[in-house]
Amino acid sequence: MTIQERKAIPVPQVEARTPVPRQNLRVPGPTPVPPDVLEAQAAPMINHRGPEFSAIMKRVTPRLEYFFQTRSRVLTYPASGTGGQECAVVNVFSPGDHVVSIIIGNFGTRLAKIAEAYGVKVSRIEFAWGEFADPAVVEARLKELAPYKGVMMTHNETSTGVTNDIQTLAALVRRLSPDALIVVDAVSSLSSLPLEMDPWDLDVVFTGSQKGWMIPPGIMMIAASERAWQAHKTSKMPRFYWDWSSTLKQLESSWQHPTTPPVSLFYALDVALDKMLDEGREAIFARHVRAGEYVRGRAQAMGLELLAKDARYASNTVTAIRAPEGIETKALLKKLHDQDQIVLADGQDHMKGKMFRIGHLGYFTDADLQQAMDAVERHLKELGYRA
Ligand SMILES: *Cc1c(COP(=O)(O)O)cnc(C)c1O
Repeated sequence: MTIQERKAIPVPQVEARTPVPRQNLRVPGPTPVPPDVLEAQAAPMINHRGPEFSAIMKRVTPRLEYFFQTRSRVLTYPASGTGGQECAVVNVFSPGDHVVSIIIGNFGTRLAKIAEAYGVKVSRIEFAWGEFADPAVVEARLKELAPYKGVMMTHNETSTGVTNDIQTLAALVRRLSPDALIVVDAVSSLSSLPLEMDPWDLDVVFTGSQKGWMIPPGIMMIAASERAWQAHKTSKMPRFYWDWSSTLKQLESSWQHPTTPPVSLFYALDVALDKMLDEGREAIFARHVRAGEYVRGRAQAMGLELLAKDARYASNTVTAIRAPEGIETKALLKKLHDQDQIVLADGQDHMKGKMFRIGHLGYFTDADLQQAMDAVERHLKELGYRA
C-alpha cells in the first residue's frame, strides 16, 4: 500500500438513537433493575482509592457473605459470569490436574472447556439436556474416575431450566474424596435459590450481578473455602487479573480492589442489597418458588412441554419450554418483542430455534409473569398452535 492510498478514516455515519420502550425483560439475565437501584448509579463518580468507595465495600462485602452463607471473604471482580468460571479454574488447579465436570447443559460445558483451555485434564459426567445430575449415576462414575483433584458442577443450568441438588452432590463427593475441591457455578441461582456455601462444604462458589442481584451486568462475586485457599497457594496456573491473593490483600488492607472497579455498579449493589435484606433471604426464595410454579403451571395448562424432565428439579429462576411441533421459536419471540415489548430468550447451542426460555429471577412482579404468559398463549394460538 502506497502512502497515497492510506486515507484518513472518516467519521462513521450511525443510526440515530431511538429510546427503547418500556419492556418486560424476561430473559435469564440481564434482568430488570428496580428504579431506585437505577437511580443510585447516577451519583457522581468517586475515587476508587478514597474513603467513600471503601465505605461502600465495607457495607457490600459482609452482606454478600450472608447471601453466600460463608465465613470466607467474598471477592468481587469486574466481569461477567464466565469470568467467574475462569477465575475459579485458574486459582485452584494446575495444568495437568485431573478434574471431573458434571454437565447438564451449555454452562456446564463451558466450564469444562475453560478448564481444558488451561491444560486441566477434564473427565465429563454428562447428562442429556433437561436432566438433572442424578446422584446415583454421579457416584458410580466418580468411583471409576478417581483420583481427581476437584469436581465442577452447575447449580442452576440456565440453558435447560434445571436445578441440581448441590447439597446431595457435594456430600457424596466429600464422602468419596474428602480432599476434592467442589467448584459450584451459582451464576443464575445465588441470591434467588437456597445455596449455603459453608454448611454444604462447598469450596469455590461464584455468581454474576445480572442474574438474581437486581443490578446490571458487570460484577462477578466469588468465594473460596479454607481448602480452596490452600489449593490456591500451590496452584501453578498462570494468572494475574484473577489472582485471589492480590484481590484479598487489597480488600483486607483498604476495602478496595487491585484494579479499577465498576464504581457505579457498586452504588447499585449497595442499594440492591438494602432491598434484598428488607425483603429477607427466605422471602426471596419463596417468591422464586411461587414464580417457578406459576410459569410452569401456565406452560403445562397450555399443553406445552418443559425441557426439565423431572418436576422436582425444574428451576425456579428460569423455565425452558420446548417449541410446539411446527412452530419456530424465532417467530414467537419476534411477535412478543414487536407487539408487546416482552423479551424472552431463545434456546442455546443445538436447541436454538427449538425452545424458548422465560427468566423469573431478581426483580419481577406477579403481573410481569402473568403478562408474559398471557401473551405467549395468545401468540402461540395466532401461530396455529392447538394444545
Ligand atoms: C449466565 C451464566 C453464565 C455466564 O455468564 P455471562 O455473564 O454470560 O458470562 C455461567 N453460568 C451460568 C449458570 C449462567 O447462568
